[in-house]
Amino acid sequence: MSTINLLILDDKEENIISLSALLSDIGDINIISSTDPNEALKICWMKDISIALVDVQMPEINGFEFVSLLKSNSRTSHITAIMVTAISKEDKYLIRGLESGAVDYLYKPLNPEITIAKVTSFIKQIHIQEEIIQKNMELEQSKKALIQANKEAEQARRSKEIFLANMSHEIRTPINGIMGIVHMLKNANLNPEQIDWINRLENASNSLLLIINDILDISKIDSGMMKIEFEDFDLKAMILEFDKNFKLKATNKNLDFEVILDEALPQYVRFDALRLQQIISNFISNSLKFTEKGKISLIVTNVENIGDQYSISFVVRDTGIGIKPDAVEKIFQAFEQGDDGITKKFGGTGLGLAIVKRLSELLGGKVSAKSTYGNGSEFSFVSTIQKAEKSTQEKVRLQYTQFPELNKLNVLVAEDNELNSFMLSHMLQTWSCHVKVVKNGMLALEEFEINTYDLILMDTHMPIMSGFEAIKEIRRHPNRDKRNVPIITISASVLEHEQQAAFEVGADDVISKPFHPIDLYNKITKTCALKNENNITF
Ligand code: ADP
Repeated sequence: MSTINLLILDDKEENIISLSALLSDIGDINIISSTDPNEALKICWMKDISIALVDVQMPEINGFEFVSLLKSNSRTSHITAIMVTAISKEDKYLIRGLESGAVDYLYKPLNPEITIAKVTSFIKQIHIQEEIIQKNMELEQSKKALIQANKEAEQARRSKEIFLANMSHEIRTPINGIMGIVHMLKNANLNPEQIDWINRLENASNSLLLIINDILDISKIDSGMMKIEFEDFDLKAMILEFDKNFKLKATNKNLDFEVILDEALPQYVRFDALRLQQIISNFISNSLKFTEKGKISLIVTNVENIGDQYSISFVVRDTGIGIKPDAVEKIFQAFEQGDDGITKKFGGTGLGLAIVKRLSELLGGKVSAKSTYGNGSEFSFVSTIQKAEKSTQEKVRLQYTQFPELNKLNVLVAEDNELNSFMLSHMLQTWSCHVKVVKNGMLALEEFEINTYDLILMDTHMPIMSGFEAIKEIRRHPNRDKRNVPIITISASVLEHEQQAAFEVGADDVISKPFHPIDLYNKITKTCALKNENNITF
């Protein structure tokens, strides 16, 4: 405990001596005294005095005036003043003392017990006050540290967002090119051996895209940027699609694949089809990866339904290698795998189930896993899903080379990546468009000034002048026809607000890289208000 400075002010030296003697038994105090109020005031200014015992009757400045002076100055107002008086116990003196700022009285002749008890109690209070002040200072400091940490976290979140935007652009742009060329090659006249090469190339680029999408997905979810989009779709058709797609892969591994579909399930539902697909595909892909013999089953059951709200469980069961009991708990965490040998033997990043768990939470559902090591595993996703009416979109499957021509549209493509512009030109030319390619926003403006275009496909990130700036200029063009030209931006960013930014500067639509030719085709027909009776969808 800290030592407290106590001041005794009395014009009579003998009173100081007797009071000091009385207080000498109290620990942790340092007694300072004076017979002169002016000198005492100076002491209070210079030294850190906590308690002042002040005689009332003094010549020049009396005790009340002295305490008033203490209280009126911010440097001394905190001092606890106790009046020491012989005059009278009448109320008027009591009140005057309290009004001047004193907290208590001691009456002469001093009673030793009462004096010690009072001073000790005030010392205790001062210690408590000191502690409170100390705690307050600490609190203030941790508040400052918290504000700073918050600022830094926000800064880090922003850096992560920018990194994510750049990463997605840099990685997805070349993949877009590779996948586009694969699409083109698949439509060329190839011999069986070349078709096999192309299929392998397609598989490899699909796997690469899956890994990149996983990394981007987990970053998006963790920074709160993953959006869930509900739409009406045919649930039973989706399940049967799984049957078709995965049966082939299972057969290639000599595995059985079955789908058990509860009759009581609604045909059409309102849910995030893409994310549901992602969850189930993840379970099945894992089962395929970790099963060497036996069977993989996808069992979809209507657990219960209240009106339109169905509780649906999607279970993927396999007869694979299983998971050790202590690992079942942690496999839903990012980068965790069943055991350390897994990566070496089967590859993988350990991100799939972490994404699945986070997605299921965003969808309001639950995922769980059961496994018998050596015998197989069972993964399930259960969620409440709303029944919907029949979806209006019927699907037609066509290769992009079979799509109807696009009325000889004059298209300006602004894209700095040569592979992408080559691929875009090829697709557009297949649909009978006239294409002019430029490498940045500035050249796009020059070209746009000279010639008339029906559509502009504009990459957002380009050197010299970005797509955003070029669109702004176009939308300010004095010629009404020119400034209203349909513009679709091609963005490699997965970030919602980057796409939003394109709409804000005046883009009519946005297409993300890598895109499927069908998506591009559909966006062009929609943006240019062309007939698309086939409603081509993938
Ligand atoms: P990855 O498959 O890329 O390693 P996941 O997050 O999808 O990452 O899976 C994490 C781990 O969970 C796997 O490494 C594996 O150990 C275990 N696991 C997942 N599904 C199965 C399964 N069907 N059978 C056995 N182990 C599985």
